[in-house]
Amino acid sequence: MRDDYDIIILGTGAGGGTLAYGLRDSGARILLVERGDYLPQEPENWDPRAVFDHKRYKPGELWQDAQGRPFAPGVHYFVGGNTKVYGAALPRLRREDFQALEHEGGTSPAWPIQYEDLEPYYARAEQIFRVHGESGQDPTEPPRSGPFPFPAVPDEPYIADLRHRLRAHGLHPFSMPMGVDLREGGRCIRCKTCDGFACQVLAKSEADVCCVRPALESKNVELMPNTLARRLLTDSTGRRITGVEVERNGERLVLHAANFVVSCGAANTAALLLRSANDQHPNGLANSSGMLGRNYMMHNNTALMAVHPTRVNETVFQKTMAINDFYFKGPNFAYPMGNVQLLGKLQAGMLTANQPLVPRPILQGIANRSVDWWVMSEDLPDPENRIILAPNGAIRVIWKRTNMVAHRKLVAAASRMMREAGYPVILTQLMGIDTNSHQCGTACFGTDPAQSVLDPFCRAHDLDNLYVVDSSFFPSSSAMNPALTIAAQALRVADHILNKAPGAVTAEVESR
Ligand SMILES: Cc1cc2nc3c(=O)[nH]c(=O)nc-3n(C[C@H](O)[C@H](O)[C@H](O)COP(=O)(O)OP(=O)(O)OC[C@H]3O[C@@H](n4cnc5c(N)ncnc54)[C@H](O)[C@@H]3O)c2cc1C
Ligand code: SF4
Repeated sequence: MRDDYDIIILGTGAGGGTLAYGLRDSGARILLVERGDYLPQEPENWDPRAVFDHKRYKPGELWQDAQGRPFAPGVHYFVGGNTKVYGAALPRLRREDFQALEHEGGTSPAWPIQYEDLEPYYARAEQIFRVHGESGQDPTEPPRSGPFPFPAVPDEPYIADLRHRLRAHGLHPFSMPMGVDLREGGRCIRCKTCDGFACQVLAKSEADVCCVRPALESKNVELMPNTLARRLLTDSTGRRITGVEVERNGERLVLHAANFVVSCGAANTAALLLRSANDQHPNGLANSSGMLGRNYMMHNNTALMAVHPTRVNETVFQKTMAINDFYFKGPNFAYPMGNVQLLGKLQAGMLTANQPLVPRPILQGIANRSVDWWVMSEDLPDPENRIILAPNGAIRVIWKRTNMVAHRKLVAAASRMMREAGYPVILTQLMGIDTNSHQCGTACFGTDPAQSVLDPFCRAHDLDNLYVVDSSFFPSSSAMNPALTIAAQALRVADHILNKAPGAVTAEVESR
């Protein structure tokens, strides 16, 4: 292990892992620092009881809500981060998501870049994450420079029939862009334990498999797992990071580099920068604007089960279809409502954590007859929704719901859609503060240093050699899944660091 690097990247998820991949052939000496280990390939990967009842892959860490009440957050500390267990839905944001959009609950702000700035990087990210999809089905789809790398994951017969019925009602169901390895000779066996589970055969397109392991094939890239970043240190001017203090096997050490990238996920990134406060940065690093930790978002989410009392849903891999007909406006509603997408097939073991009093056979009976959807609306940035540090140093999440009228309208529209498709029983569950899988927005990028934490290439306004490359940079959450956008921006930042991105003005990697 060297003690000086060109770039140290803290965190190996969608942001950090993809950035390392984008820089792997640059010649830069790169160290990835990850608090977790590799997630083991073991039978429990696909066991709902182990994953949901026993929370085998959760860190056992508690965060606090505004009142100081503890909750278990939806985070996973492994090489690959949350993508190890994600649902692998990999859509692009809509073109309009980059612009200011009026919602019933307020304005979703414009991004400092346009869709066209990210399009080439979306295309690269889709290649790297082996996205399977089909264009031309979704009226809200943004323009593409080329086709999807691989054909869409086909519906199983039950879902194909549902798609047909939804089309008959004038809707435009589309094939959800998915990262599962169904290429010719690919390893995916189309199992029913994908969304929310780790893949035992490494066939899911996640950051560990698609980015970190290939990056480590370069002799210039190293990984330090089981290493927790505690604080960043600056020089006496306060303009440059000189080192990161880490804890490894109970020991504290300081690692040095020319450039630092924080990619710890929206809450942990904000917490690390707040914990790094010093004389030059008394309110935390990169926080002269006071915006660090603020505008925390995580989508408004409802799980919806549409149950047919007699028809058994034999689908194994259910997550193949989504609907954006209500994305920009809904029936009798002039404002954006959001996206409705199939979930991985729910099973009793996945429901027991939320319904501990209902006997498992009853839950399984319901799950056998249900089609399961994730109903997802945009939440709006609110500076009062924020990450702070509790007196004991734990992460505290100050959060209240925003834009809920639109979400309720979307749940009602999705319920009506499924009733009209022949499902008389609709069960819904609104998700709470612990379902923060789509967390974003604690270090927004922007052009105004008084209003944002990062510049449009994700470099801190306040520090010359500090980047934040994870979901923290989102100024708005859109109503699409975030991972592909995080990865695309990571590739854009990689090009910028290498002085290759349009608009890049300085080479960041020190010549040796
Ligand atoms: C169950 C589930 C399903 C999901 N499904 C989808 C989906 O279908 N589509 C989609 O787009 N998104 C999905 N997501 C969300 C997606 O996984 C995240 O948006 C994405 O992984 C965020 O990337 P990130 O780089 O911001 O953070 P992460 O991927 O969480 O990576 C952060 C990394 O930093 C490490 N770390 C944290 N703190 C420190 C520290 N102090 N020192 C060192 N390392 C640290 C963590 O261990 C982790 O590896 C899902 C998430 C979950 C939990
Ligand atoms: S569906 Fe495919 S990618 Fe998903 S967990 Fe199963 S084998 Fe892995």
